[in-house]
Amino acid sequence: MIQVRGLTKSYGKQKVLGHIDLQLQKGEVTAILGPSGSGKTTLLRCLNFLEKPNAGEIAIGDVTVNCKGAGKRDIHKLRQKTAMVFQNYHLFKHKTALENVMEGLVVVQKLLKADARARSQLMLDKVGLADKQDAYPSQLSGGQQQRVGIARALALNPEVVLFDEPTSALDPERVGEVLEVIRSIAREGITMIIVTHEMAFARDVSNHVVFMDDGAIVEEGPPQELFGSPKEERTRQFLKRMT
Ligand code: ATP
Repeated sequence: MIQVRGLTKSYGKQKVLGHIDLQLQKGEVTAILGPSGSGKTTLLRCLNFLEKPNAGEIAIGDVTVNCKGAGKRDIHKLRQKTAMVFQNYHLFKHKTALENVMEGLVVVQKLLKADARARSQLMLDKVGLADKQDAYPSQLSGGQQQRVGIARALALNPEVVLFDEPTSALDPERVGEVLEVIRSIAREGITMIIVTHEMAFARDVSNHVVFMDDGAIVEEGPPQELFGSPKEERTRQFLKRMT
């Protein structure tokens, strides 16, 4: 389970997140929606301390971190519970697809190379890239690079996979293949939080939808409720613009 209490984040004088409370169940797929600048990505990055929250508490599984006094060890423990899929893939350009997936397993999780290799090959197979394991990122399409990014995240076997707008850097014809991979792993019951502008996908893949505006959660609930009968005017206006 993931629990966020009273999370706040400012950049200088600009308050970006104001007192966020959030509770997500294990195995649940949560979509975070909202207009540009509403704080979706910042919230996601605060969950693994890629951005340091100003205050609040984050609990993932058996690790609870008080954001204000969090030390290196707390942050490391929390990060071990998460894996992130980035908008721009963030692959090592001088490493092959397989080496990219192996990296975290060898360097962070200290697996033996042979074990890391076997697990990474399994993950590349899962995202449909078994035949591309020796390719470098420059030899792969954007969609394929993002699938390597997904394999890398899954390989770590995290408590939660965080997706930060995973398709927004892709050519339109490449979006579908990545969404299909995410769909298939969602069906395996992996806990995921997905920041996305793909409304139809969010509706289809998630069990829980969070709508944010102006650094706050305006409304949340099951997709059929949030899309079918939103309670808040701001949600209605947003959905009208987006769908
Ligand atoms: P989008 O859908 O456009 O990606 P978002 O909802 O994910 O937007 P964030 O990227 O979280 O929004 O940004 C929220 C606010 O915080 C914006 O006003 C943005 O300009 C600001 N912001 C984000 N990152 C930084 C940063 N590193 N330094 C300063 N301000 C930032």
